[in-house]
Amino acid sequence: MANDPEYDLGNTRNSVHFVCFDCRVCFKQPNSSNWDSTLPERPFPCPECREQMHAMGRHFKAPPRRDKRQWLKVELLYHYGERFVAGNSDLGRSCATLSDTVTYLTGPYRSLSEVRQVLHAIRGRKAIRANSNPTRE
Ligand SMILES: [Zn+2]
Repeated sequence: MANDPEYDLGNTRNSVHFVCFDCRVCFKQPNSSNWDSTLPERPFPCPECREQMHAMGRHFKAPPRRDKRQWLKVELLYHYGERFVAGNSDLGRSCATLSDTVTYLTGPYRSLSEVRQVLHAIRGRKAIRANSNPTRE
């Protein structure tokens, strides 16, 4: 039946972008979905470090790998539950730079110092990883 929501299941699936924040890589996972909760978020390990990757949404565009500030921005957005999905299409525009993103995430219920603290923690974690385990082989 065309009106049955289950009928068109094949078309509800798409390729969601998965990222590894530490390796700064992004891959599409076929047959994943932004919104269909009947499709589990399968464990999808990073091919470089084997850590579990993070679903960013179908409309995510990965920054260049060398652009650490942009990747920091992406991880900060992920931390606060922002995803690049159809209903959130202004996200890329509102958060063009890292400082735009900090402003965007700051609001009546979240102070600037809280967002900066999270950003600081993400930076700190990266520094620890880079120093203690550079190759992760
Ligand atoms: Zn990785």
